[in-house]
Amino acid sequence: MNVTRRDFLKISGVTVSGAALGGLGLHGTSMAGAKSGNMAIKYSKESTTICPYCAVGCGLIVQAHAGKVVNLEGDPDHPINEGTLCSKAHALRSVSENPWRITKPLYRAPKSSEWKEVSWDWVYSEIAKRIKKSRDAGFTKVNSSNQVVNRNDGIASVGSAALDNEECYILQKWLRALGLVYIEHQARI
Ligand code: SF4
Repeated sequence: MNVTRRDFLKISGVTVSGAALGGLGLHGTSMAGAKSGNMAIKYSKESTTICPYCAVGCGLIVQAHAGKVVNLEGDPDHPINEGTLCSKAHALRSVSENPWRITKPLYRAPKSSEWKEVSWDWVYSEIAKRIKKSRDAGFTKVNSSNQVVNRNDGIASVGSAALDNEECYILQKWLRALGLVYIEHQARI
């Protein structure tokens, strides 16, 4: 019988991980859940994602049911972590299920000490307006030697370890199109 690494982990590790995660308020995998009659696990939707905490970029399998995370584990097929996770990622459920999580945009006007709730439409148009204004004010078409540079010195970007490859690609395209040269990543600071 040809057993893959993932099959092996499913067969042999389910009971152990189920017991361990149960202690954390999480439950076992879908196989364990189905066997033990855990309906939330059995009917959950499984997705793969990337841990947002650090630049290692470990892969995760997350199961959700009725808008809540019911199981979370390292992805054994992911080439970076091969199924392992550190303690930070094991506590990742607290990111989505946290009463203090901010779910609406807040705005603090210049010189104000108050944050007020605003709409996403207002936020998007304000961001676009301010980027356009800063870009036009800081744009340099030619340098002092008359060489074309099309450079924007008026805006800088600090990226995040939470961005995956595809998001980084799109972000780079967009920032370079605006002429940005000051592009940094928080992991290098
Ligand atoms: S699981 Fe741990 S090591 Fe891996 S990306 Fe998340 S925080 Fe970093």
